[in-house]
Amino acid sequence: MSTSIDTRCVQGGYQPGNGEPRQVPIIQSTTFKYATSDAMGKLFDLEAPGYFYTRLQNPTNDYVAAKIAELEGGTAAMLTSSGQAASFFSIFNICEAGGHVVASSTIYGGTYNLLAHTMAKMGIETTFVAPDCSAEELEAAFRPNTKCVFGETIANPALTVLDIEKFATAAHTHGVPLIVDNTFPTPVMCRPIEWGADIVTHSTTKYMDGHGAAVGGAIVDSGNFDWMAHAEKFPGLTTPDDSYHGIVYAEKFGQGGAFITKATSQLMRDFGSIQSPQNAFLLNLGLESLHVRMPRHCANGLAMAEFLSAHPKIESVRYPGLAGDPCYELAQKYLPDGTCGVVSFCVAGGRAAAERFMAGLKICAIETHVADARSCCLHPASSTHRQMTDAELAAAGIAPNMVRLSCGLESADDLIADVAQALELA
Ligand SMILES: *Cc1c(COP(=O)(O)O)cnc(C)c1O
Repeated sequence: MSTSIDTRCVQGGYQPGNGEPRQVPIIQSTTFKYATSDAMGKLFDLEAPGYFYTRLQNPTNDYVAAKIAELEGGTAAMLTSSGQAASFFSIFNICEAGGHVVASSTIYGGTYNLLAHTMAKMGIETTFVAPDCSAEELEAAFRPNTKCVFGETIANPALTVLDIEKFATAAHTHGVPLIVDNTFPTPVMCRPIEWGADIVTHSTTKYMDGHGAAVGGAIVDSGNFDWMAHAEKFPGLTTPDDSYHGIVYAEKFGQGGAFITKATSQLMRDFGSIQSPQNAFLLNLGLESLHVRMPRHCANGLAMAEFLSAHPKIESVRYPGLAGDPCYELAQKYLPDGTCGVVSFCVAGGRAAAERFMAGLKICAIETHVADARSCCLHPASSTHRQMTDAELAAAGIAPNMVRLSCGLESADDLIADVAQALELA
């Protein structure tokens, strides 16, 4: 039976049988028992489905990953220990030393560091392009060894919106997949696969968990990318894997299963960045109300952005759902029902005024976090980016008086009243 996303948030994934627990069971076990070595051997050969060691796979995780696959409209999914691990696995699964990535320049700072520094040391080069680049500029970024394109639906913290169709068209013209980090909108507000994305990643730490309880990540495969049609670019999926008796992932697991099976059986096996089953259970509790929470985060974000944009002590506001925002048109196309709860703005009076504003907040807590039920606020220049001079901040696109506010699920009136009184002190 085909169901709406609301029903899939609540009931997707785990389907208990007769007399089985109603809630997703937490399989708190590192290992699994078998009657014969031969039965277990079949699992090691990927000849039979099943579990043998929680460093690679655990049933609790798979129940929750299956729900996320249903929400995004994908064919397979896996959970990782963090969003960072999801970003790394999604790229490294198809891009090895000597490979090249095209990425949007406004991606999350952690992902930027991963690509620009850590993966560079592994022999993988990245060309960054502005998300609003022309088709010609995007075209010029590709090289013969390009293996994928990466961007964020709504970038954290830049709040730019990715033109998913533009990036998907360019990627597909060059025979490579588009990977989209869909952390901020969640599949409730946008499903990038419907616009041409091939792989979707998440920091489930943010809205999916939604309560600031568990760090985690997820990768979803659309099943739409034809690895065999571009076999020479993706030998890891289309030629025999010697560490698994010569299995060819794209043949044995098909277009819908190859990517996640390879990432599980090679990268999870070797890097071991698995989400704990306890965290997967907490993530699932968050997913059960995601479709109820997201509209409220979006409504609070929009109300806050509108209040701030009319306030005399505010120099500028960025919020993709706000009429007049540079990304408003793209947001209307890709996120017509709402964007997210995160708003950024510049307080008139410079760095000191922003610091006074932060000190005056009573409901919005000072935290380096976003996308939580409780509103939280960050002044990068005096916290996460405090080692930078004003010139270095400018180069990184962060104004000294810029504040990022993540609107939680409290009353919008109370949040606006809190911000209003703190602005009086600024
Ligand atoms: C937080 C975040 C990440 C990293 O996720 P962690 O769970 O903190 O590792 C990646 N992408 C985006 C868009 C994020 O907001």
